[in-house]
Amino acid sequence: MAKTRIFSGVKPTGHLTLGNYLGAMRRWADEDQHRADALFCVVDLHALTVEHDPARVRRLSRQAATLLLAVGLDPERCTVFVQSQVAEHARLSYLMECTATDGEMRRMIQYKEKAAGERARGGSVRLSLLTYPALMAADILAYGTHEVPVGEDQAQHLELTRDLAVRFNQRYGPTFVVPKATHPQVAARVMDLTDPTSKMGKSNGTTAGIVYLLDEADVVRKKVMRAVTDAGRDVVYDRAERPGVANLLDVLAACTGGEPAELAGAYTSYGALKKDTAEAVVELLRPVRERHAELAADGGYVDSVLRAGADRAREMARPRVDAAYRAVGL
Ligand code: ADP
Repeated sequence: MAKTRIFSGVKPTGHLTLGNYLGAMRRWADEDQHRADALFCVVDLHALTVEHDPARVRRLSRQAATLLLAVGLDPERCTVFVQSQVAEHARLSYLMECTATDGEMRRMIQYKEKAAGERARGGSVRLSLLTYPALMAADILAYGTHEVPVGEDQAQHLELTRDLAVRFNQRYGPTFVVPKATHPQVAARVMDLTDPTSKMGKSNGTTAGIVYLLDEADVVRKKVMRAVTDAGRDVVYDRAERPGVANLLDVLAACTGGEPAELAGAYTSYGALKKDTAEAVVELLRPVRERHAELAADGGYVDSVLRAGADRAREMARPRVDAAYRAVGL
């Protein structure tokens, strides 16, 4: 039987966060690349769905690609590339727009939240923010992907991708594999340290509650020590009633390999929990930062990895995207 095909990506809309790492990237490096035929992508087209600065997107794409290698993705084992260098994504996205309905797109929670945010700031909403899930479906379906390792925030988009694959196959004949999402057992949704009711997102307005992968150790310590905790003093694991403490326990568990509920029993104060969590995060990120610095100093190497990755990805995607064009009558 053919090897499992895995695809996933990160968006260069900001500096990558601890949420990106624990929710997705760490598994890509530690597990997925070793057990499957995997592709990992900096999805830069997705960064244009909100107001953007061209030079910043270019810089962040580069940094994200470098971080993919820094967390341990090995270009000998998996394919690492930048989405816009493989035209098949945009080509297939159009067919996905012709398969989806506008109602489906408007129901996406991420669209509703981000569109409301843009409007509240007095800005306008780019049409591509609405059609984003069509491009995401194309990213995944172009490769015959079986599994998509993502954080929980992407579950709804993945469901839509599955619906589109099934619909396309029913209408035009079997063309796409119907993929499924996989989520990590712990820290599938890392929350903002200053507002544990919203997810730690790289494009959140404030940065105090977000740990970035390239934050210096002292910055990480400061952010974790200032994390909002809950009323009450006892350390219990309850995501609904005690979201701040639960978030710290999730992060600590994800860093140390423990169980959040069990870890709770080992603490009698929030201060001690924060201190251990801060140190665990610092240790987790230390090698990533070091490796990033080495790689960033060797631009030629990163360029050659991305070029080879894009060539390989194009080869993999083209036959299926061509087949999809033929299937719809073009
Ligand atoms: P964002 O822009 O929200 O940081 P991306 O769209 O680039 O995220 O997502 C990259 C990957 O990181 C996705 O698999 C996503 O599910 C995951 N991810 C993002 N934020 C978090 C979080 N706070 N907790 C867990 N996983 C996350």
